[in-house]
Order: sequence, then C-alpha cells, then structure tokens
Amino acid sequence: MNILVINAGSSSLKYQLYDMSTEQVLAKGRVERIGMDSSILTHEVEQQPEVREVSEILDHTTAIRKVLDMLTHAKFGVLSNIQDIQAIGHRVVHGGESFSESVLVDQAVKLEIRKLFDLAPLHNPAHMMGITAVETNLPEVPQAVVFDTAFHQTMPASSYLYAIPTVLYKKHQIRRYGFHGTSHDYVSKRAAEFLGKPLESLKLVTCHIGNGASCTAILNGRSYDTSMGMTPLEGLMMGTRSGDLDPAVVPFTLNKEDLTLNEVNSMLNKHSGLLAVSGISSDMREVVEAMKAGHENAKLAFEMYAYRIRKYIGAYIAAMDGVDAIIFTAGVGENSDVLRKEICRHLTFFGVTLDEERNAVRSSEPRTITTDDSAVSVLVVPTNEELLIARDTYRLVRNKLAGDSSEL
Ligand code: AMP
Repeated sequence: MNILVINAGSSSLKYQLYDMSTEQVLAKGRVERIGMDSSILTHEVEQQPEVREVSEILDHTTAIRKVLDMLTHAKFGVLSNIQDIQAIGHRVVHGGESFSESVLVDQAVKLEIRKLFDLAPLHNPAHMMGITAVETNLPEVPQAVVFDTAFHQTMPASSYLYAIPTVLYKKHQIRRYGFHGTSHDYVSKRAAEFLGKPLESLKLVTCHIGNGASCTAILNGRSYDTSMGMTPLEGLMMGTRSGDLDPAVVPFTLNKEDLTLNEVNSMLNKHSGLLAVSGISSDMREVVEAMKAGHENAKLAFEMYAYRIRKYIGAYIAAMDGVDAIIFTAGVGENSDVLRKEICRHLTFFGVTLDEERNAVRSSEPRTITTDDSAVSVLVVPTNEELLIARDTYRLVRNKLAGDSSEL
C-alpha cells in the first residue's frame, strides 16, 4: 500500500509518499508560497537531482493537483498512475479533547476539527484546507488524521488542569493539551526498542527540541505531563516563543507599552525566545557560533535555553519518581552536541554521566551518549513524525478494509 502523508500549512504543504511494504519514502517535497505569485514546488526522489518548479498555485486544491502530477510525472514521478495512492494521512495539530487517537476522516471528524479552529487558529483551518483539497482531487481515497495532541490525552487531571476557575475549563475547555505528541510517541517507542525493554516498564523524559520545543514525562508508555499547554506557547524557551512567563506580564506590558493584545500575542510567539534574548537569530546554530565568537547575549540566550530544559527534566523526574532514560530529538536536540552537553553536565545528581565522544557522534540512528556505567541513559533518537502518520493511516485503512470485507 502506498500512503501519501500531508502536512498542510496556511501557505505551504509538505508531502512524503511511503511504500508501506518496506516503509521506504518513494518521494517527498513541499509546495511553498501557496496563494502568492511565484509558488514553488520542490520534489525529491532519492539519488536523483531535486526538481524545482515555479508557477502560480493559488489554493491548496491546485497544490495537491500539482503534487499528484509530479508523483506521476513521466520523468520525475515514482508512480505510473494516481490510483497507486491507496490512502492519505494528514498531520493535524489540535484534536482537543475529542481525539485521543488517529481516526479516518468522515463528516463527523471534519465537524470536530472545525470546532477546534478557535484553539488552533493558525493550524487547524490550514489542515482542513488540505483535507478538502484531497477530497476534490482524490474523492475515492480514504484519509486519516493524526493529531499532535492525541498522545497527551492520557495525562491525569492534575497535570492538564490550570489552577483557574473550573468554569473556564467546563465552558471553554481551557486546559493543557500538549503538542509534538506524534514525535514524543515515536521516539519513546524507538527508545524502548533500542534499550531492549518494554515501554510499559519505563520512565522516560523526551525532549523534542526543534524550532518549537517541548518536554514530556512518559510513564509506562503514556504521556503523564508535558510542557506545552493550551497552545504551543507554554513551557520551554523556543526559537521565537517565550515559553513560560508570569501571566501578569501580559496586562502589565499592555499598560506600559502602546500595544494591542494581538501585538503582545505576536511578540510572545514570534519575537521572543532565542531570537529576542540573543538579538541575533532564532536558529541555534547561529546563536552557538556567535557565543563561541564571544557575543555576550548569545551566551546568555544559550544558557537560558539549556537551563529551562534542565528544569523541566528535573521536574519530570520528580513527577515520575525516577527516570530510566532521557531522550533528545528534533532539529536542535538531534544535532547540537554543545547544547546536550550543557544540559547533561548539571544532571550528575540524577546519575547522568555524559560520554563526550559519543555525544559528538552524528548518526541517523538512535544512540546512547552516556557512559556504560551511567545510572541513567541519555539517548539521541531521530524523530520521524511522517512515518508514524503513515503507520497509523496504514493500520486504520487496513482495519477498515478488513471490516468492510467481513460485512460482505
Ligand atoms: P525542527 O523544528 O525540528 O525542524 O528544527 C529546526 C531547528 O533545528 C532549526 O531552527 C535550527 O535552529 C536547528 N538546528 C538544525 N541543525 C542544527 C545544528 N547542527 N546545531 C544546532 N541547531 C540545529
């Protein structure tokens, strides 16, 4: 079965085509600048030169059509015809309390996703455009949705409730949802395989440190607490997001500066974090380079960033009353040995002994970066959210096909 995984944003769309018999990626790519002039489609097939096509792509329906044309292109394509795509899996950021697992798309599911637009105004409407665009282009092909929040639906109320009047939770579902669930889920499973232990017996702290960043306490295979909240703004310091701060900062800033609520919201989401503190960049590579060159604010930004991660790791070890392994993943977590070192050098109290040589190794495979006698293992596990989306879609579609044939 071939499955096309789609991650639709408001003006972009990423795709990966999987052959599920081998779990190999046949092709991948992205469409950028949808709705603008000079939209760009970039298409990659292993061991072939990247293809870049500039054209006018005014909406997601056209974007999907262009992707399908490319996948079946005589020269650059990997499929002989469109019927060779048997299912589609979409990433959807917010599943609220309605979805604790991935589901096949039907009218009721679409209605629920629409109801959640308020909670994820930047993401869910764009995902919905992706789903509708597929329906238009491939009306017969089953679609599944995989939610970033679903994995965290196992959190106990003591983790997910905010200490504010309960009526706000009851009326508006204001609570912690958590994000990056697909990644935390994927790397925790990979880590258990790598350690050769059942996931159900492990206490893990997973650190997804990319442009957005979150830590999760995973107790016996289930999310027990996570650092992102009702929105992806809470928790760790990120590339451009502030992470945790005293909520009183918002009204105070509104009073002192001539800003609107929207402007403060935008400041906290787009102009804070590494970018604001370093004054240089939201990209950890540039911040580290500047720090090494003696830039004081870059050093401060780096230290704050690492310190916040360490605080969450410590908190989650206390929350679970122990830890077997700490896992780093995503762009920064997988690639920045400097950051991992800065975090781990203060975890000796928990029995972490970093092996600097192992920490410096680069690999696309899971690996240990602690010494053999370290009481707690620290691992680097490359994430693969698309593969998990493809696997969930495959399982759901196969189950449906099995159900349909048994009804005959
Ligand atoms: P992600 O959101 O997981 O795609 O991660 C993207 C981020 O990874 C970028 O913004 C970079 O800051 C970061 N990144 C990628 N490579 C490195 C590296 N070698 N060292 C530090 N950060 C990196």
